Amino acid sequence: MSERIKYLLDETQIPKCWYNPAADLPAMPPALHPGTGRPVTPDDLAPIMPPALIAQELSTERAIEIPEPVRQAYARWRPSPMFRARGLERALRTPARIYYKYEGASPTGSHKPNTAIAQAFYNKEAGIARLVTETGAGQWGSSLAFAGAMFGLDVKVYMVKVTYHQKPYPKSLMETYGAVCVPSPSRETAAGRAILAEDPECSGSLGIATSEAVEVAIGDPRTNYAGGSVLNHVVMHQTVIGQEALLQMDMAGDWPDIVIGCAGGGSNLGGLSFPFIGESLRKGRKVRVVAAEPASCPTLTQGRRAYDYGDTAGLTPCLMMHTLGHSFVPPPLHAGGLRYHGIAPLVSHALAHGLMEAVAVPQTSCFAAGVQFARSEGIVPAPESTHAIQVAIAEALRCREEGRAETILFCLSGHGLFDLPAYTRHLTGQLHDEACDQERLDRSLARLPAFAKA
Ligand SMILES: *Cc1c(COP(=O)(O)O)cnc(C)c1O
Repeated sequence: MSERIKYLLDETQIPKCWYNPAADLPAMPPALHPGTGRPVTPDDLAPIMPPALIAQELSTERAIEIPEPVRQAYARWRPSPMFRARGLERALRTPARIYYKYEGASPTGSHKPNTAIAQAFYNKEAGIARLVTETGAGQWGSSLAFAGAMFGLDVKVYMVKVTYHQKPYPKSLMETYGAVCVPSPSRETAAGRAILAEDPECSGSLGIATSEAVEVAIGDPRTNYAGGSVLNHVVMHQTVIGQEALLQMDMAGDWPDIVIGCAGGGSNLGGLSFPFIGESLRKGRKVRVVAAEPASCPTLTQGRRAYDYGDTAGLTPCLMMHTLGHSFVPPPLHAGGLRYHGIAPLVSHALAHGLMEAVAVPQTSCFAAGVQFARSEGIVPAPESTHAIQVAIAEALRCREEGRAETILFCLSGHGLFDLPAYTRHLTGQLHDEACDQERLDRSLARLPAFAKA
């Protein structure tokens, strides 16, 4: 079957464990309590998270068993398919072999349910009634709304105001699942009111919406917070992507020279790449991992690696990560899911230790890549995912120039069917590239927490 383009696994091959990258990476700097600056303890996290997730957050064990009800819920759409991108290869006239792992076939169209399902399960088991969270482009909010419906939990979502107005369908989707969706900054929380007092026109950010959600979770013992990315346990849940991809690369009789993911909070990138990095660290198989981030929110390429808050108000623990500063409000680009000031500490750590590289790509070239992908492969990618495609195409063209038949694997983290207005704007020449404003970045980096180390 040398012409095979689709690599499918069966339900028994849904991973039985999540892979914890912390087991194979050099020791990670601990998360710090935002008030005392001391390493966080399980007690510090108890007001917002159930014990099982706290244990996972702090764990260094390599394999963490996936509960059977979670595997059963995964079976609604997992294992996800991996494709050989023969159409794109032909269009690029590249000798490179390009594969993509498609996470857009989940009920909400992205990789986010991989962790939403797990978090809903553990919270339900702990007797929690409601989950609150933030969402940027709406994919995390709708995925948590879906998971809440599956496990009988109420869900409330603070959605970044600019995307709430840009993209009406994610809100409809959340409401269809029974969740409540509020534009952020809102007047419902002290964090939201403080921001609005400073700037009544504030378009919102993931950092602000996170402050609102965490504040609500702290204030209500039956409500917990659910994080859509960044946190260790979230990245760990997403390793189902990479573990399946390892099996699928085996089916293809291949091994990726390059693994690429777009980087917002780092969960699809980490979820796909860490199982490969783990193989490489344990068995010496070489792999290049590339993070693709937006040029207008360049956390990994222009941020500083330092302790910073995960949110704007400084309610979350301080994480050691690449950051643009917790008060940074990125311009309203269309890949809303990539508009975050920080990155998963696991990804930041891997980058700092030379296990990953990062490139920043402008949004118009990403949309161009997305259109080329749609016309050659048939799937309209999410604007976030087009960042990974843009880098995959650049690598494939480099292979053409150098006459090298390298193997490229990227994560197609979601479909773009909720983002067609953005595609229309691209196709009619209304999209522009915005560089990251250096002055704004400097101001924001000057406001890192007092115990932040450069
Ligand atoms: C949320 C989202 C992202 C960015 O989040 P990560 O945690 O970096 O993966 C990327 N792609 C899609 C489709 C998303 O919904």
